Amino acid sequence: MQVTFHGVRGSFPCSSPLNRRYGGNTASVSVEVSGEPPLLLDLGTGVPQFDDSRGRPTGEPFRAVALVTHLHLDHVLGLPFFAPVHQAGTQLDIYGPRQEAGTLRDGFAGLVEPPYFPLPLNEILGDIRFHDVWHDELEIGSAKVSVRPVPHVGPTVGYRVEWGGGTLAYISDHQAPPGLDSIDAGVLELCAGVDLLVHEAQYTRAEYAAKPNWGHCTVDYAVRVAREAGARTLCLYHHDPWRTDDDLDALVVEARAQAGGATTEVMAAAEGLSLTVVTRG
Ligand SMILES: [Zn+2]
Ligand SMILES: [Zn+2]
Repeated sequence: MQVTFHGVRGSFPCSSPLNRRYGGNTASVSVEVSGEPPLLLDLGTGVPQFDDSRGRPTGEPFRAVALVTHLHLDHVLGLPFFAPVHQAGTQLDIYGPRQEAGTLRDGFAGLVEPPYFPLPLNEILGDIRFHDVWHDELEIGSAKVSVRPVPHVGPTVGYRVEWGGGTLAYISDHQAPPGLDSIDAGVLELCAGVDLLVHEAQYTRAEYAAKPNWGHCTVDYAVRVAREAGARTLCLYHHDPWRTDDDLDALVVEARAQAGGATTEVMAAAEGLSLTVVTRG
């Protein structure tokens, strides 16, 4: 499967001469296997950059499945600006966590409506279908998808995708416990032995100490999750919007040293980075 990053920031979109290499759009990843509709991981401000029209015969309607982790703005703000949803014939299935009050659809309907957006959700031309998930095993085309709750702020899930001969875990936002000394069992289940783990790495240790309950974890905690789960490659993700390109380069060097190089390869997600993920025999 082909995994491509369209947005790699957490919290809010940012654009500055100091972050151009990694990019300033928020959480958006596409996963593609030829012959099947793409999976979109989150719908942040990078998703309008995704264009599958090259692989789609002219005139055939857009079809995709979005796996959304939670409804914080950095994960959903791209949806109303994603051109295919305004085309007749589009079918977009959105999976995401049920809300404390109401359905997943209710949550999106509260965002996509005037005065925040010119149209209400039910007047959007494409057919958008919503599916509430929490602790589930799904079959989407030939993809096997596992869903587990992930500690964060508000209802949040993570995903494991087994598809096209590769495995991926996607943990976009992850509240580490005080002391950073244990890992949620459901998270470890999603990440066990994956070829690619995309895991948030929002804070340094000093930042985490100042914001211990803001819903996130540290770079070294992401490395810890990858090592304990036996992930082959860790891709640091959901970068803090204030992190410059040079800061990120330095954090990757530190994380590689911590990982020890033995089992887990470490990299940082960047806009436009595309990885071919295949299980090694
Ligand atoms: Zn986030
Ligand atoms: Zn969040």
